[in-house]
Amino acid sequence: MAKFRMHSAVVGLVLAVSPAAASPKVLATIAPIHSLLSSVMHDIAVPNLLLSSDVSPHSYSLKPSDARRLASAELIVAVGPTFEAFLEKPMAHLARNARIVMLTRDAQINLLVSSTDHHHNPGQTDDHAAINPHVWLDPRNAVAIVDHVAAVLGEIDPNNRQRYRLNATELISQLHELDRSLESAFTDVRNTPFMVSHDAYTYLVTRYRLNMVGAFHKKLEQAPGAKHLAKLRARIKRLGVRCIFREPQFSSRIVTASLKWAGVRSAVLDPLGIDIATGPGAYETLMRRLGAALTKCLTLR
Ligand SMILES: [Zn+2]
Repeated sequence: MAKFRMHSAVVGLVLAVSPAAASPKVLATIAPIHSLLSSVMHDIAVPNLLLSSDVSPHSYSLKPSDARRLASAELIVAVGPTFEAFLEKPMAHLARNARIVMLTRDAQINLLVSSTDHHHNPGQTDDHAAINPHVWLDPRNAVAIVDHVAAVLGEIDPNNRQRYRLNATELISQLHELDRSLESAFTDVRNTPFMVSHDAYTYLVTRYRLNMVGAFHKKLEQAPGAKHLAKLRARIKRLGVRCIFREPQFSSRIVTASLKWAGVRSAVLDPLGIDIATGPGAYETLMRRLGAALTKCLTLR
């Protein structure tokens, strides 16, 4: 009897530590979400990333290799139907066996509407079109995302449920710390007006009560015309805009060159983290770099 009990204890131990085979194949669409997932899945499995951060999800179209990765995923975590428009058609047949999480629909995120007429999915006319999809740019939303994906992972991989929850709890306390640190970093630049290239920063700006006065691309992939540029210049002057921020994923050189004529500084803000190594640390690095880029440009004299 004693011998039998020892035997089953050993079997149980082997099952508990035996890795890989059963761990779920998870795919995140963009790097910041992939980073949060990587932390939640730490020591269990490594999630796949669909899009590298040098491309804009707004203008992306799927490649055959993406289709293969979608087809083999068991869990796909996307921002939402108004963001990854390129997923709308293939999702139905490519991801037939996958559980799909749409964060703007499924996670407990406090959604905000777009402050400009920049629509991420031009064909869409229902209420979703107005939701600003860049939800990850507020650490409190990251907390909600982590909480949700940890629960979903625990459902599809119950053997590791506790581990997902432990990882999530640890990450959530880091996110609260990050949030506090950004809150204090922005103290001195809170009222300084700035303009961004596209309407990606509503969540960041709302969370930290920053003074963003507009986005200069009304429509992505479309350079503003002369009339719009003239309006922007007037607005920049009138409001005393200190800084205009371009993004590495879009070519805005002509725009920023034209607007610099008004004597305003320009710098880079990157909502995805083009040169940040993917993985658990990427999200925090992304947010700290955004904080540093904003405060640097807004405090320079
Ligand atoms: Zn965007």
